[in-house]
Amino acid sequence: MAKIALVTGASRGIGRAIALRLAQDGFEVIAHYRQNRQQAEAVSPRTVQADLSDPDSIDRLFAGLGRLDVLVNNAGIWKPSPIGSTEAGRMHELVDTNLKGPFWVMNRASGLLNDGACVVNVSSVAAQKAVAGGRSLYGATKAALDALTRNWSLELAPRRIRVNGVAPGYVETDMTQAHLSDPAIRQHAIDRHPLGRLGTAEDIAGVVAWLCSDQARFVTGQTINSSGGFYL
Ligand code: NAD
Repeated sequence: MAKIALVTGASRGIGRAIALRLAQDGFEVIAHYRQNRQQAEAVSPRTVQADLSDPDSIDRLFAGLGRLDVLVNNAGIWKPSPIGSTEAGRMHELVDTNLKGPFWVMNRASGLLNDGACVVNVSSVAAQKAVAGGRSLYGATKAALDALTRNWSLELAPRRIRVNGVAPGYVETDMTQAHLSDPAIRQHAIDRHPLGRLGTAEDIAGVVAWLCSDQARFVTGQTINSSGGFYL
């Protein structure tokens, strides 16, 4: 019987690449989406909808789910929070989606995860490095996510559930498209990756696939940089 993997934010970008890669590796993938059902259905025949910034919506999502072998907390937003001009709404949006979202998802998923399951949190190099453009809150939510990764790995180790993270640098997706369309910003972003290029969604999916494989069976509590050396 195929192992079951739930991937959040799977209709596009990094989540889509992760879902497709896990399916290729033999997992039965449940593709979570917020708005774009059609795009999610193009990724997997099994889809679930929820606004992950809303705990009630997360409860409804899990009401219909059975056992899980993999959970990938990928959904997230990347919005600026410049000092001096940030409104409370932006704080709520970032914290509700990037921090509370994965926490409440895990809170509901833990009872469904089989012993020996694998959890991967999609973090960011922004948790470890300061980046230009007033994105301190984004970095703070991802640093908090890394703390969840470490703590959950300890909490769930007795059930042999491994919890890890992956930290991309700049990856070309809808999230970064507008930002990277400025040639000067794009070149600056490339220059921050010693390996000389921006990341692809497939680069990140490869690391997630490895973390969810038997090859990584003794790895837990780690957030693995997949950023071409951005963090150095
Ligand atoms: P994306 O914008 O293409 O995809 C993000 C996904 O998250 C979308 O499917 C969106 O619908 C979903 N999502 C956002 N808010 C949601 C909510 N409230 N409820 C449900 N779903 C919600 O971006 P991406 O580049 O594919 O990003 C995926 C993850 O990778 C994010 O956590 C992001 O922070 C992280 N990341 C991206 C980059 C990058 O350069 N693209 C770098 C580092 C980390």
